[in-house]
Amino acid sequence: MDAAVDAGTSQFELNEDQRAIQEMAEAFAADRVAPNALDWDRNKHFPADVIRETGPLGLGGIYISDDVGGSALGRLDAVLIFEALSRADPAFSSFISIHNMVASMIDRFGSDEQRQRFLPKLTSMEWLASYCLTEPGSGSDAAALKTRAVKSGGDYVLNGVKQFISGAGDSDLYIVMARTGADGPKGISTFVVPKDAPGLSFGANEHKMGWHMQSTRQVVFEDCKVPAQNLLSDEGAGFGIAMAGLDGGRLNIAACSLGGAQSALDKALSYTAERKAFGAKINQFQALQFKLADMETELQAARIFLYAAASKLDRKAPDASKWSAMAKRFVTDIGFNVANDALQLHGGYGYLHDYGIEKLVRDLRVHQILEGTNEIMRVIIARALIGR
Ligand SMILES: Cc1cc2nc3c(=O)[nH]c(=O)nc-3n(C[C@H](O)[C@H](O)[C@H](O)COP(=O)(O)OP(=O)(O)OC[C@H]3O[C@@H](n4cnc5c(N)ncnc54)[C@H](O)[C@@H]3O)c2cc1C
Repeated sequence: MDAAVDAGTSQFELNEDQRAIQEMAEAFAADRVAPNALDWDRNKHFPADVIRETGPLGLGGIYISDDVGGSALGRLDAVLIFEALSRADPAFSSFISIHNMVASMIDRFGSDEQRQRFLPKLTSMEWLASYCLTEPGSGSDAAALKTRAVKSGGDYVLNGVKQFISGAGDSDLYIVMARTGADGPKGISTFVVPKDAPGLSFGANEHKMGWHMQSTRQVVFEDCKVPAQNLLSDEGAGFGIAMAGLDGGRLNIAACSLGGAQSALDKALSYTAERKAFGAKINQFQALQFKLADMETELQAARIFLYAAASKLDRKAPDASKWSAMAKRFVTDIGFNVANDALQLHGGYGYLHDYGIEKLVRDLRVHQILEGTNEIMRVIIARALIGR
C-alpha cells in the first residue's frame, strides 16, 4: 500500500483484520483485475469468470450473515474492499457492489426460507444479481414507478419496463420493485425474479460513456410470472427495502470513486515525474505541484469523510442516512474532479486509451448520477437539516 492511502487509513486506526481484508482485496485486484481492465473496457467484455472468483474470497456477501455463506463484515470493511478493487477497475468494483446490495436486501428483509433459497448461491457468486428500480419515466422520483405486479393464484404477474439496469442479461437474479397497490411509495413491493422467469426479457446493451465492462439494459416484464413465495417481506414494504439497500450502496459507490481517483493521482505523480517540458520535469513547475497538492488534500479529506460515514452505518447512528448521502455526494464529486485533473496533467496522452486515465474519468462520471444523483443527495441532506 502506498503512503497516500496509509496516511488516510491511519486516522481510523484500522485493526489487523481490516488491514488483512484490505491487502487481500488489493492483491486480488492487482493480480486478476488490473492487467485486464483496459481490455474489458475496450471490448465491452463482462468478465463473469473473474467476478465469480471473488466468491471464494468472501466478496459475494461481504456484510451478509455467515449462516448463508456471508462474510459478516461491516460497512467500513466493505468500503476498504471496494476502494481496493477500484484502484484496479472502478467498473468491476461497482458491479460487485450492486451484487452485494441485492444480497443484503434479501438477508435483511427475506424470510428464513428465502434467505436459505437465495443467499448461499449469491454469497458464493454462483449466481450474480442486479437491482431494478429505475424506469424509463421515473429515476430520481423512484416512488412514481409504474411496473405493476398483480396477484393471480400462487403467482404475481408483472408487467412493465425497468431502465438502465446494470448487469441485466448477465445476472441470474433480479430484485425488482413493482407496484402492488396505490400510487406513491406505500404501493410498492419487492420481488426476487430469476433470470428464467417466463415473460422476462432484456433490451439491447446501451452504448454508454463508461462502465463498459458491464452491460446496461432494459429489463422487460410481459405477463412475467413470479411465484408468490418470491415476494420479499410484505406487500407495500418495497420502497423502504429499496431505500435501505441504497444507504450502503451509496457508500460503496463512493468507495469506487475514491479508489479510481487514487489510481489517477498515482498515475499523475508518476507521469509528471518523468515528462519533460521547457528543459525540466513537469513536476518542477509550481503550478502543477499545487495541483498535485490539492488533489492529495481533497482525496484524503474524501477518504476520511467516507470512512466516518461507514462507521456511522456500522454503529447504526441515527444520522447514518444523512452521512451516507453526504459522503456519496462529496466523494464522487471529488473523485471525478481528481481523475479529470489527472487527465489534464497527462496532456494529450491522458486522452489516449492506453494510459488508462480517460477510462477512469469516464467510469467515475456516472457515480455522480446513479444510486441517487448528487442533486438528490442534496435533497436528502437538506431534508435532514431543515425538515420537509
Ligand atoms: C450506467 C448506469 C447504470 C445504472 N444502473 C442502475 C441499476 O442497476 N438499477 C437501477 O435501478 N438504476 C440504475 N441506473 C439509473 C440511475 O439510478 C438513474 O439514472 C438516476 O437515478 C437518475 O434518474 P434519471 O436518469 O431518470 O434522471 P432524472 O431523475 O430524470 O433527473 C434528471 C436531472 O434532474 C435532477 N433532478 C431530479 N429531481 C430533482 C430534484 N427534486 N431536485 C433537484 N434536481 C433534481 C437530477 O439530479 C438530474 O440532474 C443506472 C444509470 C446509469 C447511467
